[in-house]
Amino acid sequence: MKRNPHLAKLNSHYLFPEIAKRKQVFLAKNPSAKLISLGIGDTTEPIPSSIIPALMQRAQQLGTKEGYSGYGPEQGEQLLREHIVQQLYPNWVEAEEVFISDGSKCDIGRLQILFGNQASVAVQNPTYPVYVDTSVIVGQTHSKELIHLTCHPENQFFPDLNQIPPVDILYFCSPNNPTGAAASYDQLTQLVNFAKQHRSILVYDAAYAWYIQEPHLPRSIYAIKGAREVAIELGSFSKMAGFTGVRLAWSIVPKELTFEDGHPLHQDWKRIHSTFFNGASNLAQAGGLAALQPAGIQAMHELKTFYMENAQLLKTTFQELGYSVYGGINAPYLWVKFPIENSWEAFEFLLEKAHIICTPGSGFGEAGEGFLRFSAFGHRTTIQEAVSRLHAIHPT
Ligand code: PLP
Repeated sequence: MKRNPHLAKLNSHYLFPEIAKRKQVFLAKNPSAKLISLGIGDTTEPIPSSIIPALMQRAQQLGTKEGYSGYGPEQGEQLLREHIVQQLYPNWVEAEEVFISDGSKCDIGRLQILFGNQASVAVQNPTYPVYVDTSVIVGQTHSKELIHLTCHPENQFFPDLNQIPPVDILYFCSPNNPTGAAASYDQLTQLVNFAKQHRSILVYDAAYAWYIQEPHLPRSIYAIKGAREVAIELGSFSKMAGFTGVRLAWSIVPKELTFEDGHPLHQDWKRIHSTFFNGASNLAQAGGLAALQPAGIQAMHELKTFYMENAQLLKTTFQELGYSVYGGINAPYLWVKFPIENSWEAFEFLLEKAHIICTPGSGFGEAGEGFLRFSAFGHRTTIQEAVSRLHAIHPT
């Protein structure tokens, strides 16, 4: 059996395993070091208490003859889909256009099956690596010509769309992982217009939409006129409700969205969903439904506020230390320009001097070189300790 040749084309150092490896090497040399991780964007606070009874109740029901249920609807439970629409997309989408899943990452992978391996692709640079890696794995022949949309402070982390050739698929993540930038109405309108003009499909990753704090910013691509004709949106309970381990997300494919020949994407996505997936866990869906009740919404706002206070603490610290720091206002990530030009060297510097683990910006694409990403998803005591260690290595 020959190895799938496309797998050999992947960047061999997937970012997080490489960080884990360097951490192990460091710990082998410094076994007593108390490391602080502000690296991987995983949540740390407990799931809000108003959600837990629903998870337990569904688990208990599964242990009874009357309450047991097996496979659920492949597209997800109707009530959950309706609540997602009511709470997050009022008047913009229909429940029938929502597909419940086990995670946005899995959805990004399954989308490759929808697009096939002939589509040309544009991604932000720096970017969440999964769009590129899943494209390469399915053997996108155009992957060598993958178009990188450079996003840096000088262009307010938004590419000049006039410089881009027509593409089939345009991935856009806002609020952005890793830069923390959140796009404005005007910027998203430019994206929608670009997609309309070139008949591209926009995959809008809104995994961090819940973290948008500034009221003037759009929380969904469907807030933009015409987006239903060009955009798929991905949403997730992972960062919103602390469901990174529970696993629950959704995708939205509006019925107006069609391929070149007029065939609706919705139909094909439904087919792919039911061929590759047997429905999200019924326990997770019970939790998701509880999260979207008034008490759950309130608790998720509190969770967001907590993490965003962490972000503020880190942001202020970096500012006081004289660094240029971006993000941390509408996203739980800080994107810090480090005085050490090479991101991995900067990573090693912080590991050695402060025992802090962060994520090297270059791991998200070459436009991330010179930056470090810090996650605000920590316990308060961890963030406070990180703050004091940062001050300690930079005596003023
Ligand atoms: N999209 C972005 C931009 C992310 O940062 C992440 C997770 O870190 C995901 C999607 C994956 O989310 P999920 O946990 O729903 O698979």
